[in-house]
Amino acid sequence: MDLRHLDTEATRAEQEAVDAVVTGAFPRGWPALTRYRAQLLPALHALQDRVGHISEGGLGYVCRRLHVAPAEAYGVATFYHLLAVGERPGPRVHVCDDLTCRLAGATVPPGAHASPCLGLCDQAPAVLFLEPGEVPRAALLGAVTAETHRDPWSVPRGGIPVHQPREALHLLRRVGVVDPGSFEDWAAHGGGEGLRTAVARGPESVIHAVIASGLVGRGGAAFPTGRKWEAVAAQPVFPHHFVCNADESEPGTFKDRVLMEEDPFAVVEGVAIGALAVGSARAVIYLRGEYPLARTRLEHAIRALRDRGWLGPDVLGSGRPLEIEVFRGAGAYICGEETALLNSLEGLRGEPRQKPPFPFQHGLFGEPTAVNNVETLVNVAPILVEGAAAWAHRGADGSPGTRLFCVSGRVQRPGLYELGGGATLSSLLALAGGTGRPVRAVLLGGAAGTFVGPEHLDVPLTFAATRAIGATLGSGVVLVLDDTVDPLPLLQRMARFFRDESCGQCVPCRVGTVRMEEWLNARAAGGQPAWSTLDDLSAVLRDASICGLGQTAASAVDSARRIGLFGSAP
Ligand code: SF4
Repeated sequence: MDLRHLDTEATRAEQEAVDAVVTGAFPRGWPALTRYRAQLLPALHALQDRVGHISEGGLGYVCRRLHVAPAEAYGVATFYHLLAVGERPGPRVHVCDDLTCRLAGATVPPGAHASPCLGLCDQAPAVLFLEPGEVPRAALLGAVTAETHRDPWSVPRGGIPVHQPREALHLLRRVGVVDPGSFEDWAAHGGGEGLRTAVARGPESVIHAVIASGLVGRGGAAFPTGRKWEAVAAQPVFPHHFVCNADESEPGTFKDRVLMEEDPFAVVEGVAIGALAVGSARAVIYLRGEYPLARTRLEHAIRALRDRGWLGPDVLGSGRPLEIEVFRGAGAYICGEETALLNSLEGLRGEPRQKPPFPFQHGLFGEPTAVNNVETLVNVAPILVEGAAAWAHRGADGSPGTRLFCVSGRVQRPGLYELGGGATLSSLLALAGGTGRPVRAVLLGGAAGTFVGPEHLDVPLTFAATRAIGATLGSGVVLVLDDTVDPLPLLQRMARFFRDESCGQCVPCRVGTVRMEEWLNARAAGGQPAWSTLDDLSAVLRDASICGLGQTAASAVDSARRIGLFGSAP
């Protein structure tokens, strides 16, 4: 391979930062080479953390260390929002101007970067502060004021967004109750029973219990978790991998952040149970780069469990090894798509792969891989401890177990709510303190979801009932618009979001998201763009895009039109 390296030299600080994360000698032969390349994103993070941007010299040094062509590394570095290529030293301020923060009046001041949803919708408006240095600092803060901007490092994080009576909570039962940094506190509140049970029962029995429970993925796709684990465990190719998808980026979603920040041991326990079930000795938590507190707490929990023999070479005396690591994403919504996430882990651009083959056969490094969302995994310990039937019984027919809902927008108490048993949308809004004004629409499932009108407030929050009205539960977003909200600017923001986040790999999505934004901008400017154009765009995006991003990019606009948010649209 003809590697043309960049001429500028890296500074000593840059070299030291990269050397601290790039480990091992350059290997020969595939697949060792592809695993070596997996250090690319951590190395780019190291540069950015140290000096605030990725300089030409720094990028060249990374390329030499990892034997990656500069054009390839540049392609990766420019793929992610949180990485800055070129001179941009000093602190960076990312101000969320997405749906909920807009409703809370967020504006992006000069010098700051507009950010898609930062996952702090319960405390909008939200800002992410990043300060490079020998000891880099990062803070994700909500309810931001001018005062916060002056000294973000001394501002305490806002309160925990759980407002239900404790007895109603299962997944959230320890949130706000235990010290998230204390193994002992977690264990004293029932933590660890799931992993002990899993080790005692063995992988087959665990998988059978998860299948029997009917647990389906909580990230949006709703695939049966136990079936996925069964398929990976049965693969004759080794090693098997286990990946926790903690790249929570759907606008309006913050449930996984709350779980990771407030009950990190439970998340790691769920990952450990899943990894052991599918026969993996190494699991990865792919964590959203915008969640610094979750990263600190997860890494602490992993260390604490390892120190006590709950992880490591001999998990709880079972003879089974298991290591878990946290891998930091760098700001790319598309990496929530599981195959894009796997590419990102391998040091490639986070572009989705064609399916089939599916990850259970051909996943990380081409090997069998299970990918599960955070909330999904936190359900597994209760299934094992309480029994599949008891766990499932808390839900409704076809929607077993409880679910988390991220309520934001025009409600009195935005926050995280846990519901089961076919509770309705109106009962959820009542729990959140009500709206105070007539509801104009509710966005279910985030930017990739659907608007429902006030006539559907009595819909039970189950898969079947929402499907019956043409909606989706998605990742649990419930964003409320009252009669004072003009929906058109929100739709424009969503269109810009999809345009920015499209990986650009396939034409229907790359071009279609741009055209959809243009259509909405024309309408907002008082024009009368043809409805047939919107029909065509919607059909092409849905039917011809490679992955879910393009396939759902027009869902919210279509549903807005259906329920009359554009006025008298045909
Ligand atoms: Fe990329 Fe969009 Fe195509 Fe998905 S649909 S692969 S995000 S261009």
